Amino acid sequence: MLNIFILRKRKKASVKKVSPQSKKLRAAARAIVLERVEYFNQHYQLQYGRIFIKDQKTRWGSCSSKGNLNFNYRIAMLPKELQDYLVVHELCHLQEMNHGPNFWKLMMEQIPNAKALNKELKSYSFK
Ligand SMILES: [Zn+2]
Repeated sequence: MLNIFILRKRKKASVKKVSPQSKKLRAAARAIVLERVEYFNQHYQLQYGRIFIKDQKTRWGSCSSKGNLNFNYRIAMLPKELQDYLVVHELCHLQEMNHGPNFWKLMMEQIPNAKALNKELKSYSFK
């Protein structure tokens, strides 16, 4: 039992190597995200903590309880309108920590077609 567990763990770790391509994408993602957060926050005027670019396997972004904003580096590969959707999505979580009607209303102040973009984003896979 134990051996099997160790083997699996090792296999997973070897996949985590950062390729030169993903380094470039991380830098590109950081530049995009910083610029767009600043741009959209001129409207929202919300307080946020730090911004992190992460290698998340299953999510595009998140907002921590400390107000830090996290984005998947793969955001750099998305069309611009989806990049903006993700930035505004996480920004709005600083005020609305859920996906209720007030959250969508807030998002739509800057992204009127937010719901359509949310659906479109689901057609992009992480692989
Ligand atoms: Zn959300």
